[in-house]
Amino acid sequence: MASMNHHYTELQDSYLFRTIDAKVADFRAAHPDADLLKLGIGDVTLPLPPAVIQALHQAVDDQAVKETFEGYQAEVGAPFFRQAVQDYYARNGVELEQAEIFVSSGAKDDLADLLDIFSRGMTALVLEPAYPAYVDANVISGNKLVHLPSSADEDFAPYPDPTIDADIVYLCSPNNPTGATYTIEKLQAWVEWARQKQAVIVFDAAYESFIKDPSIPHSIYAIEGAKECAIEVCSLSKTAGFTGTRAGYTVVPKALVREGLELNALWVRNRTTKTNGISYVLQKAAAAALSPEGQAQCAANVAVYQENARVLMEALDGAGVWYSGGKNAPYVWMRCPGGLTSWEFFDKLLEEEQVVGTPGSGFGQCGEGYFRLTAFNTPENTREAAKRLAQLCSRLA
Ligand code: PLP
Repeated sequence: MASMNHHYTELQDSYLFRTIDAKVADFRAAHPDADLLKLGIGDVTLPLPPAVIQALHQAVDDQAVKETFEGYQAEVGAPFFRQAVQDYYARNGVELEQAEIFVSSGAKDDLADLLDIFSRGMTALVLEPAYPAYVDANVISGNKLVHLPSSADEDFAPYPDPTIDADIVYLCSPNNPTGATYTIEKLQAWVEWARQKQAVIVFDAAYESFIKDPSIPHSIYAIEGAKECAIEVCSLSKTAGFTGTRAGYTVVPKALVREGLELNALWVRNRTTKTNGISYVLQKAAAAALSPEGQAQCAANVAVYQENARVLMEALDGAGVWYSGGKNAPYVWMRCPGGLTSWEFFDKLLEEEQVVGTPGSGFGQCGEGYFRLTAFNTPENTREAAKRLAQLCSRLA
């Protein structure tokens, strides 16, 4: 008889987005003419930059001709892709070897797959509120989970607790859902903690291109000693609008050694066993997104979302509502006015103003009483949603 992984039964149902969808569907059924505005889901809305489209067309044409046709690419990433990522980091002041860079089909894939190189049953530390995939991937692997809740007192970016022991810790900056960022000092403290505990930091940099403040690091490797304790997972989803196109990259430094094993070598072995990488066409598109020309175009798109975030922050400032994020992130994490719970505020915003957001309690218990708004909508919709949001907040204040 097949012996199954019963840890799947320990996963919490994806209650959050299912419940949101059900509530929105009920509302639509009752008010078919309502002008509903969605600031819920964290998905981009602008098309791919021209440099990416051009590279995609060119790569498709390459595949049509015998002389330029490409078959399997290296499992770890095509040399031209690794070069593009290496150059991208170098422009941001971080030197990496190409052999430390791995292609992926997105951050979510590698955040989960990386657990393969750690032993089952280890302890994972998750800083909450958190992107739900960290918890779920560890539950499936049968790992122990330790939660470190954070609060407005520390701007939702806590320092390490020296009394907590863990084998790995997830740090996400800029953070989903709180939009909080980690300062150099905070990251230094986490690097120190990881080195002392011989733990590994998994640094999720999916939103790094939203950082405007020059003092906030885009990469954990801006911190001295990080190459000896951290893996960085990144993605072109939010940087370049690749949520539906799919490409990302993961950095596993050669200096990262635990129990006498080089994590880079383990990850090479894992990739060469478990994947054939991503297509030549997509890697060409991703390399174009990371080129200086592509980056200028990506930055123009990011600026549209940043302006949306500013409009949301302005509305909350006007209504006297506390929030984090927004300045260096596409998420604005607001405190629900009038002492409402996250779901109470969700219901009021939907029913009274026809705006949809995400209840903070869906990202961990310490998210109760908070609410996530995304900047991924059109400027027109965002302006209208901000106006309606301000109206409700003023009524509740
Ligand atoms: N990490 C965080 C914090 C995210 O919010 C997301 C997606 O929303 C991802 C990773 C997944 O990114 P990708 O599209 O590259 O899989």
